[in-house]
Amino acid sequence: MTSRRLLMLGPPGAGKGTQSARLAEELGIPQIATGEMLRAAVAAGSEVGKKAKARMDTGDLVPDSVVIGVAEERLSQPDVAAGFILDGFPRNRAQAEALDGMLPKLGCTLECCIVLAADVEVLVKRLLKRAEIEGRSDDNETSIRNRMAVYDEKTAPLIEYYNAKNILVEVDGLGEIDEVAARIAAAIG
Ligand code: ADP
Repeated sequence: MTSRRLLMLGPPGAGKGTQSARLAEELGIPQIATGEMLRAAVAAGSEVGKKAKARMDTGDLVPDSVVIGVAEERLSQPDVAAGFILDGFPRNRAQAEALDGMLPKLGCTLECCIVLAADVEVLVKRLLKRAEIEGRSDDNETSIRNRMAVYDEKTAPLIEYYNAKNILVEVDGLGEIDEVAARIAAAIG
């Protein structure tokens, strides 16, 4: 089987993390989740964490220079040779262009960009519920609304960016986790 090089795109709360983790497990490839990596950096009190924390709490994007560095370092690890699924990176055009610059060095291209589509109000409700369970410091209504706005303004334009490269597949993100997973599996073949 050829290695899969996938990218998961979609608004906060659409299930990117859940579906990416599942695909990573099924396909035996690493999930590269910049949000998780940044939360780990914040918890560890590292330089990256210090630069990221305030932006994450308000739901704004962490500076490109920081996130691109984190992604590039992760993509230089040997396990990436098996393929990868990017979850939460890139989140704007500058990051997408930076990724385009990294991939040739890895000797690969992106194979598929999966967009999880979902209704904003449903997502806000989901995230507020998650806030009660997980207690993430950015899962409060102000930050959630801001993350939605940031997604619309900065990240959603990447749908057209990847559509223009002919690697876009859109999947309905509403429904049970298993249903969405089945849709993704069908979409990426
Ligand atoms: P969600 O999808 O719920 O917003 P993530 O875990 O993907 O959750 O991201 C949480 C936060 O981490 C974002 O709001 C942002 O502050 C920061 N972050 C994650 N990935 C990036 C990125 N590629 N660029 C800039 N900031 C990022």
